[in-house]
Amino acid sequence: MTAFRRTLRTAADLADAGLVTAERAEAIAGVESRYAVAVTPAMAALIDARDANDPIARQFVPDARELDRHPAERDDPIGDAIKSPVPGLVHRYPDRVLLKLVATCPVYCRFCFRREMVGPGKASALSDAELADALAYICDHPKIWEVILTGGDPLILSPRRVAEVTAALSGIPHVKVLRWHSRVPVVTPERVTQELVAALSSSAKTVYVALHTNHPRELTGLARSACARLINAGIAMVSQTVLLRGVNDDADTLEALMRALVETRVKPYYLHHGDLAPGTAHLRTTIAEGQALMRELRRRLSGLALPSYVLDIPGAHGKVPVGPQYLETSPDGYAVRDARGKPHAYEDCCTAVSR
Ligand code: SF4
Repeated sequence: MTAFRRTLRTAADLADAGLVTAERAEAIAGVESRYAVAVTPAMAALIDARDANDPIARQFVPDARELDRHPAERDDPIGDAIKSPVPGLVHRYPDRVLLKLVATCPVYCRFCFRREMVGPGKASALSDAELADALAYICDHPKIWEVILTGGDPLILSPRRVAEVTAALSGIPHVKVLRWHSRVPVVTPERVTQELVAALSSSAKTVYVALHTNHPRELTGLARSACARLINAGIAMVSQTVLLRGVNDDADTLEALMRALVETRVKPYYLHHGDLAPGTAHLRTTIAEGQALMRELRRRLSGLALPSYVLDIPGAHGKVPVGPQYLETSPDGYAVRDARGKPHAYEDCCTAVSR
């Protein structure tokens, strides 16, 4: 495995590192000026440059097709802006908010649903004044039970800043859960230092880290150790995966990923259908393909290892499960399909209780 010393940020960097040919570097130079590029040493080391379809490269190395925009694609596919009452805060559901602390990431994913908002030259990190406004909004809305810290990737912040944000949120009694969404434990595991772990767990609130990971090869020994440092400090972990054509759109890869996550003590939470981000059609599957994969995963995996297949409805209408259905109504009650697809009659019966 090649050791890389720094993050690769341009098509020329990728060519110098031997990850793309000179012709490909020329073809993708136009993408680099449109969307941010960053491939960390940990991810560059996983890329097999001899494989034209390498699933790690597909996630991080730009593709000329990113400049092709499908008419259905949108700059803000899940409608963050419509639901943002103050800068940096998205309030889509009554009991939780997103707090977007930074607009930069250690890697830039080619399928990113916030690709128009993240990267150098886009929005900057929340200033102290904006953070104060966001915290005041949370204080004023007692139904907010969970704060989801996101970005960008909030775990690129210094442990000192993570501790400051944690301290500020810990002073809001109705907020019970802090959930940090991050790709850091996988793409730059060395950032999960004891100082960062201490900062994350420095309040009495319940803390989750939601790990974003898409391929089993990402769960290297170093990535698993980074997760263990978080979990051993009392932080619970769940995962989010985006279903991506040519990366993980086959049952064997998804099965291996979900098993690796459970072995790492990370509960598979969501499998996201690809959002309608600009220039990402070549990375999306159809929903029918996703449902067929979920049917197969249910046949192979225990419930502990099964994520929920979800779609964020464009236009800020929220996230809903779009997995296969197993229950249909029939004249006699219900027909329930087992994991192999065979239907069985089920008669709903219970004793009515007066309340
Ligand atoms: S880490 Fe998340 S926010 Fe950053 S580029 Fe990847 S998908 Fe987008």
